Amino acid sequence: YNVVHRGDAISVQTKDRFHELAAGRGLVLDPEQPDIVVSVGGDGTMLHAFHLYKEQLETTSFVGIHTGHLGFYADWKPGEIELLVDSMAAAMSCPPLKTVKYPVVQIQIETERGTQTHLALNEFTLKGGEATLVAELHINDELFEMFRGDGICISTPSGSTGYNKSLTGAILHPSLDAIQIAEMASLNNRLYRSLGSSMVLPKHHHCDIYPKKKMNMLLTIDHLNVQMNDIVSIRSMVAEEKVSFARFRPFPFWNRVREAFIGEIVE
Ligand code: NAP
Repeated sequence: YNVVHRGDAISVQTKDRFHELAAGRGLVLDPEQPDIVVSVGGDGTMLHAFHLYKEQLETTSFVGIHTGHLGFYADWKPGEIELLVDSMAAAMSCPPLKTVKYPVVQIQIETERGTQTHLALNEFTLKGGEATLVAELHINDELFEMFRGDGICISTPSGSTGYNKSLTGAILHPSLDAIQIAEMASLNNRLYRSLGSSMVLPKHHHCDIYPKKKMNMLLTIDHLNVQMNDIVSIRSMVAEEKVSFARFRPFPFWNRVREAFIGEIVE
């Protein structure tokens, strides 16, 4: 196993305690090729953990401990790590490990310098850095619309509760193999027209964005961001790879959504 933590005092303390308990239960620390990566912090920490191990999704599962508020990827509390370590030790001595698999989004960025491929756990966004983003949006190789606005967000089902939700996109259950396209402040008037609603594409469909103006653009992939001025096109689709989360006890997705966004229900 390995632990990736947020670096604040309570996360460091939780990480140290985890290592202590894990050694006592015979779990082997292996930062190079861990079977399980434990993220200690918040959902943002899980994004870091995912990007550290995204080349090993086939053999690595993730589990999250939240040292702040309850997270979508982090559902164990620091007070429960003894139970978590016991569950991990029991699962390791009696494989296979029980996991749930969530889809991730793959993007291919074609630039004047070549093509790069990336995976995102939450979403990828494209924004016009210095002016309105003007871009053709193609779905399955056919022109769908000419987008004008702040930007476009393409999210995974598990990322649909992140940036996508702030853009009024729908929340998708992570068992769905899909990606969601949401607009950021699109220009809609007598001249310019885009759909306005977010769209959900199934696996094996793809969407391409062709920026019409050559300018500095801001690209985000989860918590990472980069500026580029030579983007030719960006293709997004459901990736072949999936991310696995170790499941030692049930915690239904809709319960997390309710706890995160609704809280106590007043009758
Ligand atoms: P951040 O700006 O420090 O934190 C963004 C917030 O989003 C944190 O509260 C984080 O939870 C939460 N979050 C991350 N993934 C989530 C998910 N799948 N469902 C619900 N909430 C989620 O940035 P960061 O920690 O590096 O995270 C990057 C993420 O922030 C992006 O992937 C994007 O989804 C989100 N974001 C949202 C907006 C927006 O809503 N306007 C703008 C930019 C980025 P924790 O506190 O548990 O870490």
